[in-house]
Amino acid sequence: MKWFRKKRDEGSQPESKGSGGQKVDDILKDPFADDLRMRIESASLPNHILEVARDECERLIKTDKSSPEFALGHNYIEFILSLPWNVTTKDDLDLTRAKDLLDARHYGLNPVKERILEFLAVKSLHSRQQAKILLADDEVIARENLSIIFEQEGFAVRSVANGLEAITAMENDPADILVTDLKMEGMDGLQLLQEVRRRWPDTGVIMLTGYATVKTAVTAMLKGADQYLGKPVNLTKLRDYVMELLNRNQRIQSLRGPVLCFTGPPGTGKTSIGRAIAEAMGRKFFRLSLAGLRDEAELRGHRRTYVGAMAGRILQGIQKSGVRNPVIMLDEMDKVIQDFQGDATAVLLEMLDPEQNASFVDNYLGLPFDLSGVLFIATANIVERLPAPLRDRMEEIEFSSYTLSEKQQISTRFLIPSQLSQHGLNPKDFNLLPEAVRSLVVDYTREAGLRGLEKQIASLCRKLARKTLAGGENSDIVTVEAGDIPDIMGPPPHFTTTAKSSPKVGLATGLVWTENGGEILFVEAARMQGNKQLILTGSLGEVLRESAQTALSFLRSNAEKFSLAPDFFESSDIHVHIPAGAVTKEGPSAGITITIAILSMLTGRAVRQDVAFSGEISLLGEILPVGGVREKIMAAGRAGIKTVVLPEKCDYAVRSIEPEVLENIEVRLVSRLEEVVDLALL
Ligand code: ADP
Repeated sequence: MKWFRKKRDEGSQPESKGSGGQKVDDILKDPFADDLRMRIESASLPNHILEVARDECERLIKTDKSSPEFALGHNYIEFILSLPWNVTTKDDLDLTRAKDLLDARHYGLNPVKERILEFLAVKSLHSRQQAKILLADDEVIARENLSIIFEQEGFAVRSVANGLEAITAMENDPADILVTDLKMEGMDGLQLLQEVRRRWPDTGVIMLTGYATVKTAVTAMLKGADQYLGKPVNLTKLRDYVMELLNRNQRIQSLRGPVLCFTGPPGTGKTSIGRAIAEAMGRKFFRLSLAGLRDEAELRGHRRTYVGAMAGRILQGIQKSGVRNPVIMLDEMDKVIQDFQGDATAVLLEMLDPEQNASFVDNYLGLPFDLSGVLFIATANIVERLPAPLRDRMEEIEFSSYTLSEKQQISTRFLIPSQLSQHGLNPKDFNLLPEAVRSLVVDYTREAGLRGLEKQIASLCRKLARKTLAGGENSDIVTVEAGDIPDIMGPPPHFTTTAKSSPKVGLATGLVWTENGGEILFVEAARMQGNKQLILTGSLGEVLRESAQTALSFLRSNAEKFSLAPDFFESSDIHVHIPAGAVTKEGPSAGITITIAILSMLTGRAVRQDVAFSGEISLLGEILPVGGVREKIMAAGRAGIKTVVLPEKCDYAVRSIEPEVLENIEVRLVSRLEEVVDLALL
């Protein structure tokens, strides 16, 4: 389908009235004015924008060139002219190509890729549906002429002679657009309109009539017609209306689907998959980092009356990308700050809402800009942090931590060759043996994603580059073995979160889930003389404080069962501390760990340090289920834990984890705290 641009009437150009500081002759001769007018007329602006641009232009021409208003007005017009009002790229929705491209750029991530291909398939089907037009007119010639024209444009056209026939045709196969004459035998256009509105509300209706009067037009519009045209039909206008209605329908259909939201720890490929989707679809891509954003104006711009006002980041991005249908990645949406100083969420909601985003208004531009062609993809580390209305709009696709073997594969196939090239080295000249890569992954990084690993590989490449130069021109292939790694990279960094080696009294190892993936953390418990206080430190959230209180109450109420003195709390204080200030400690999963730490401290039985726990306890000692099981088990593996104790209800989650993750870990599922005691305490 083609876009038909209206030929603009030469005569409709506004005439300069020549008031203000300059004379009429000057204005007419002004080459700047001529040039600007010409650029505005030839910029294919939509009608309502064209009008504003013309007005602004005429006002500017009358403004003194040395005044600040001139610069402001000029910038504004230039901004309007620089926006891609009608520029789009055509979507490439070839699924085989998209799959090849996703595979070529990313190793693994199969569930994610599958979901993306499904998404593209739906888009592709939508775009392939041939738009259907039904023509109702009692004049044969008029019907035939319109049929021929619309068929040439690639529409599926049917034509009928009156309202009754039109209803039958709609019943057989509802059309996307009905173009109907007003006066017809049998059932006329208005009756037909009412019937269509009632039964097929999504169909667009354009009324045509030879007796175009304001009154009939108003009646038709009131009864629900979308557009109204007098005869003889202005074909350009009719086509414009048809395209407008189709765009509206298509937009509603294709955007009824949710916005994709990639969630998961940093460095797991969310941004780069977004980029690959844009590449696969043949769309432009830009990334909008939302971390730390609190000011609505940053997204939506400042009004022109402010000094130094600028458009918001959305329109700036659109302007830079040069098209109105790019892929926009709204990165780290969960880090948007909501506080009393402002809330950018409202703008995000508006942008993502298909009902509203077709007329997104930037404060600086002050005119609606159509964002409905944009494909938005959001990313978030912790999706629970998103405000509920935003989360409702999203379909979450989870990116989980990479296993050791995935990291090795990705390093060998992607990260190492790309980093070598980026450092001016030829990948063919270097051979990093698998054990060397493994050492980089295991000894030099401890993370869910690949960011740290990518940095370590970059560091290795810098060192190799230096060595290569120092060694002079040598054509031999350089082989890097595991043993060479410490020589090149220096000693491995010391990670504080490895499991302790020998059993300890009053110290238990817990597993938590954070935005960086799983982590292990330690819970310490101590008792001293005092008066029945439970002291909690380690910047714990409210939920954790309550867990600790529950743990203590459970032990006090079951003192006999655990061979504790019934009055152990009478003349003492108990202090529970969770070090590692950097880890957010909020979730409800540390109940077991806290109970075990306190119990160990009270009984003097040491806790095995190769066992880690995750699970909440109830006041009656039942173990309640927790989330993030895969991430937690992986964190345990990385930290050298041998046994992971989890709630029985996590059984299903454990069974769906791939064998590689469970390789060196024994998972024990428990339903009551008593079962944990024997596993954990010596
Ligand atoms: P995120 O957006 O999740 O923080 P990035 O997309 O920035 O992560 O990924 C970090 C780096 O890891 C990038 O260089 C990316 O190309 C690479 N990467 C991530 N996942 C994969 C994968 N499955 N295959 C190949 N490279 C990957």
